[in-house]
Amino acid sequence: MLWENLKSSEFPEAVKKSKGVCVIPLGAMEKHGPHMPVGTDNIIAERTTLLAAEREPVVVFPTFHFGQVNGLQHFDGSICLSQRLTLELFDEICDEIARSGFKKILLLNSHGGNPAIAQCICNQALEKKRDYVVAFAESYWTYPKDLQKALKERREDFPYITDEDVAIVEDYFSKPRQAFHADFDEALLVHDADPTLVDMSKMGDEDGESTHKSDHLTEAKIYTGRNWFINFPNSFSASHFPYVNERLARAYTEIRVDYIASVLKAFKDDTTLLQANEEWNKSW
Ligand SMILES: [Zn+2]
Repeated sequence: MLWENLKSSEFPEAVKKSKGVCVIPLGAMEKHGPHMPVGTDNIIAERTTLLAAEREPVVVFPTFHFGQVNGLQHFDGSICLSQRLTLELFDEICDEIARSGFKKILLLNSHGGNPAIAQCICNQALEKKRDYVVAFAESYWTYPKDLQKALKERREDFPYITDEDVAIVEDYFSKPRQAFHADFDEALLVHDADPTLVDMSKMGDEDGESTHKSDHLTEAKIYTGRNWFINFPNSFSASHFPYVNERLARAYTEIRVDYIASVLKAFKDDTTLLQANEEWNKSW
């Protein structure tokens, strides 16, 4: 159930079906290597959340397209909002969502730069008494490793997968590969959404390997907001591996959607959060 597709009269029923849960997918507008669009995280966030919501009904709010990408303004296509504006925006958006009856709001993130601001949004919700709760979860706790495992352990669930596809996945894991941003994982998910948006023949046009220049900072647990960019000056973190096809894309998307559906179920079934919120509201 996509918020904007609901008729006003359908909201009370949607609140009931979703057990009061509204999910806001979080993406970002930023460079994704030489081979994928700047809206990659938005495309993945929206599609996987909507597919998961078909299995585990919740209302899905329009995707937040402008996640935290400060420090990447020099790449065309990046949209960098101030943190202050983002917090103010969510403060009001969450109030508005709750006004339509959704008392459990989940920020479901698909962009690596968003966790800190997402946690701030959750904390800001506690600045005053509210009749709703805000939570944050990552949508991306699946990796190509999970695809490899699924094809080994339950290949029958993916009847369209060929022996050649299995060989591609095994090849991917035959040596250490850089991954994280505009990598095999994201290419599979975008390819499944719209194969015309991914041009794997361009993947090798830029270097996605780490310079390791900021490793000493990361090892010392010093965060500067620049560590990542120092290691990946092309804002691209992936070894060249162009072997993406529609069958692998479909299988990996199924695995991701299964995972997200399990997150939605856990959040829907929870009763402790609203109870704690109510007790807290009464106590001061
Ligand atoms: Zn991404």
